[in-house]
Amino acid sequence: MEFLRQLLVPADPQQQGRLKVWAVGAASYALCGSVQVIEVALGLLERRLSDPLLVAMACAALVFFGLIRSGLNQRIASDPTLTLVQLAFGLGFSIWSYTITGAARGAILMVLISNLVFGAVSLAPRQLRRLALAALAVLGAAMLACALHDPLHHPWRLELVHFLFTGIVMGTVTWLSGHLSELRSRLGRQTKDLKAALAQLQQVATRDELTQIHNRRHLGELMAAELRRHERSDAPLCLALLDIDWFKSINDRFGHAVGDKVLQRFAAAAQGVLRATDLLGRWGGEEFLVLLPDTPIEQAPAALERLRQRLAHEDFGAMAPGLQVTFSCGLTLCAPGESIEAATERADQAMYAAKTQGRNRTTVLLPGDAADSRPAMQAPAAPAEAAAAPPAARLRPLEASA
Ligand code: GH3
Ligand code: MG
Ligand code: MG
Repeated sequence: MEFLRQLLVPADPQQQGRLKVWAVGAASYALCGSVQVIEVALGLLERRLSDPLLVAMACAALVFFGLIRSGLNQRIASDPTLTLVQLAFGLGFSIWSYTITGAARGAILMVLISNLVFGAVSLAPRQLRRLALAALAVLGAAMLACALHDPLHHPWRLELVHFLFTGIVMGTVTWLSGHLSELRSRLGRQTKDLKAALAQLQQVATRDELTQIHNRRHLGELMAAELRRHERSDAPLCLALLDIDWFKSINDRFGHAVGDKVLQRFAAAAQGVLRATDLLGRWGGEEFLVLLPDTPIEQAPAALERLRQRLAHEDFGAMAPGLQVTFSCGLTLCAPGESIEAATERADQAMYAAKTQGRNRTTVLLPGDAADSRPAMQAPAAPAEAAAAPPAARLRPLEASA
């Protein structure tokens, strides 16, 4: 069974969709062909006239299947789905059937219209209009030929009435197709707008508006997921809280707008030096949190020192003369089974220690260390003077120049 499925059904999902459309057409050929056999049995249709049509329908269905299964249809740039050509054949067979079916031929017109209804949902309105016009012209010509050739069985009055009604229904279906297409494009536009709104909503819900890095709420979710992943592995997980030094005085001396720009630059610099797997978010005002997965505590300070170096080389002076930006950092290692809150609390204590020890430095507090004990590890501060000095002294160059 699986072998048969593999043999008949293409692997490509798009081609599978096209095969489904083909199957609908083939099923309709089979059903109409069966009714035709019944008509022959009932004496409504001559077998010598019916058989060539049945063979032609079977051949067409097989050729379309072969084209789709082999992938040759994909080379037909104008109609790789074969919808138009399959519908044209369906209409052609309906007209052929009309000309050979005796008194019951009026019913065949329903099959003809059903082809067009199928086209109304799958073709562009312009394509359908052309197809309907061509079908109507061929049907009219066939009716005229029948009326001239066999007026006894095809009286012209009956053919004319059939033709007029078919024309009216075709016109209605074609108009409906235009309406449907308009609805489809409106739906497409609405879906696009909705997707954009959803993306914007996602952005607002997960990103900090000022710095565009993760906001605290979203960072909390990401950290919880990272912690679950961490619990399943033995890999070390480090957590760091970074707080910009003397930020209030930056605001006071240079203005809130400069303070905002500093936050943006800081976030961009941190994102630039961290690994793609590290998590960075804005924890609050001028505080940032970094989660460093798969990082031993001995290696974590290096990442933070890279940021310190990067900030030291940033030209903050161009933003506001005399402006320098440093940060103090509390670093810790997440203990197995420990909650994020507990680890964050320890990083906060370490950060506080970094502040009291002179700022512009990273202080490490390991699980089990007392908060007021000597930090287990202390990264060298550089450049120490700039941040260790009180704000007034640090900003003296500006005052001197003022
Ligand atoms: P310390 O070195 O001890 O951290 O001193 P600090 O001045 O950085 O710390 P403090 O907590 O006293 O001041 C933080 C300031 O950050 C106060 C607040 O007005 C400012 N702030 C918080 N959020 C924003 C913001 O979005 N933009 C700006 N420009 N300032 C902010
Ligand atoms: Mg702070
Ligand atoms: Mg601060």
